[in-house]
Amino acid sequence: MIAPSKYDLILVGTGFASTFFLKKFLEKPSNASKKVLVLERGVFYPHQDRLNTMRGQEPDYKKLLTKQEDTFFNTNKKKPWVFDVNFGGSSNCWWGCTPRLMPSDFKMKTLYGVANDWPLTYEELESYYCETEEIMAISGPEATPYPMSKKYPLPSHILGTVDKAFQKKYGDKMYISQPTARASRPTGNRNACCSSYSCNVCPVNAKFTIENTLIDVYKDPRVELRYNSQVLRLRLENDVAKAVQVKSEGKTYEVEGELIGLGANTIFNAHILLNSGDTSPLLGKGLTEQVGVFAHVFLDGMMNVGASSSLSANGYMLYEGAFRKDYGSCLIEHHNLPLVRNERGKWRNIARLKFVFEDLPDNSNSVKLSENEEKPTVDYKGHTAYADRAFENIKKEVSNLLSCLPVEKIVMDDYYQDTEFHSLSSVRMSKDPKDGVVDDKMLHHKYRNLLVMGGSAFTTASAANPSLTISALSLRSADKLFS
Ligand SMILES: Cc1cc2nc3c(=O)[nH]c(=O)nc-3n(C[C@H](O)[C@H](O)[C@H](O)COP(=O)(O)OP(=O)(O)OC[C@H]3O[C@@H](n4cnc5c(N)ncnc54)[C@H](O)[C@@H]3O)c2cc1C
Ligand code: SF4
Repeated sequence: MIAPSKYDLILVGTGFASTFFLKKFLEKPSNASKKVLVLERGVFYPHQDRLNTMRGQEPDYKKLLTKQEDTFFNTNKKKPWVFDVNFGGSSNCWWGCTPRLMPSDFKMKTLYGVANDWPLTYEELESYYCETEEIMAISGPEATPYPMSKKYPLPSHILGTVDKAFQKKYGDKMYISQPTARASRPTGNRNACCSSYSCNVCPVNAKFTIENTLIDVYKDPRVELRYNSQVLRLRLENDVAKAVQVKSEGKTYEVEGELIGLGANTIFNAHILLNSGDTSPLLGKGLTEQVGVFAHVFLDGMMNVGASSSLSANGYMLYEGAFRKDYGSCLIEHHNLPLVRNERGKWRNIARLKFVFEDLPDNSNSVKLSENEEKPTVDYKGHTAYADRAFENIKKEVSNLLSCLPVEKIVMDDYYQDTEFHSLSSVRMSKDPKDGVVDDKMLHHKYRNLLVMGGSAFTTASAANPSLTISALSLRSADKLFS
C-alpha cells in the first residue's frame, strides 16, 4: 500500500492523551473514511518483555531502546522527570491512581484569587470522566467528595484497619477507598489486583494500560502507526499547522495533515512547538508538578492489615477550604506497602501516609530549546512557596489529623520526594489567549487545526493525579470537534 502524502489526522505519541482522542475520533460517523497517521518515537515494548526484563531476561532489542533520561537536558539534577517513551507512553509504568479533580480545582481564580480558572468547568467534563472510568474499568467507592452521575464500574478495593479508623472519624466522603485503574475484579484482559506494590510493571497485568485495553484502536484500518518516528517540529504557515517534520532512522521527512494533534507529554509538546517557531508568550512556561512528603505512623496495639490494593485510600480532609488563597490543597494517600517494624509483637503496627500538595504554575520553571534540535532543556528551579506553606500547615495539623489512630509516634519526612511523576502545565489552557496557549478543547489559540493534549494543558496543578483528567479531556475534545 502506498502511504498517502496527506492525512486527515496526524497524532504524535501513543499515550493517554493521543489514544483517548483517537478512540473517540474513530467512533464518530463523520470520520468513517478518514486516514490517520500516528507517529511514535519509541517502539512496542510489550508488558511480557517488561516483566521478563524485571526477571533479568532482557529482550535483545532492549539495549537499543531510547533511554528517557537521554531525551532531554536537565538543568536541575535533583529534580528527575520520569516517563516512558514507547508505545502506550507512561501508561506502561503508571501506578493507576485515578481520583477526579474537584469542581473547585477548575476555579482557582474565582474561588481563591490565585492562578487562573480553567476554561471549562467540572460539570462540562463530568460525562467524559464517566466514560473514561468505564474504559479504564475503574474500581471505586459508592460515596465520593466530588459529584458523580454514574457509579464506578468496578467495586471499590477493600479498606484496611487503619483506613477504617480514618473513615469512622471523617466519614465515607472525606476518606475513600482510592479510585483506581488497578482492577478489584478480573476485567477485560486484566486480572484482579493482589496488592503486591510493584505497579510500575504489574506482575499480574491488573492495572489499565493502553496495551491491555486500547491497543485495538491502532489496528483500525484507517490508522497507520509508525514506530521510531520522532516528530521534531511542525511547519506553521500563517495561522495553519501544515505538516510535521519527522526523524526516523537517521532520515528526516515531512508529512502533511488536515488536523494535527500533539500527545507527546508535557515536555515534548512544548519542545515541538518551540522548535516550530510558535511565539505564544506563555509557551513552555509554568512547568509544574505537585510535591509529596511521606509520614510513617507507628501504631500502638493496632495492626495495619486487610487492604486489597497498593494505595488503599485517599483522604480529602485538607483538600478544600478558604486556605487555598494562601497555600495548596493536600491529598492524602495511604501507601499500603508491606512495611515491617523490627520489634517483637509490633511488626505490622505501622502505616505509611503520603501528603501530596498542590502547586501553582510559576513562569520561571520552563521547557526551553537547546542547541540540539532533538532535545529540550528542562529548567525547573523549584516549586513555589504556595506548596511549602501547605507542608508547614501539615506539620501543625498532623497530630490532630491522626487522632483517630492509636498513635505511638509519627515520623514525618522533612524533605519532599524528588518527583510525583506528574509533569504539568507547559502549554496551558485558558479562555483568553493572553493567559495560555490552548483553549478548552486544547486547540491552539492561533493555529486552529492544532491540538496540544495531555498534562501540558492543565491550567493549574491540583493535588489529584492527572491521567484520568488527561484522558477525559481528550475524549471531550474529539467529541466536540467531530459529529
Ligand atoms: C512511575 C509513574 C507513575 C505514575 N503514576 C500515576 C498515577 O498513579 N496516576 C496518574 O494519574 N498518573 C500517574 N503518572 C503520570 C502519567 O503517567 C502521565 O500523566 C501520563 O502518562 C501522561 O499522558 P500523556 O499521553 O500526555 O503522555 P505519555 O504517557 O508520556 O505519552 C507520550 C507519548 O508520546 C511519545 N513521544 C514523545 N515525544 C515524541 C515525539 N517527539 N515524537 C513522537 N512521539 C513522541 C512517547 O513515546 C509516548 O508514547 C505516573 C507516571 C510515572 C512515570
Ligand atoms: S498492587 Fe500488585 S497486582 Fe495491584 S496493580 Fe500493583 S502490582 Fe499489580
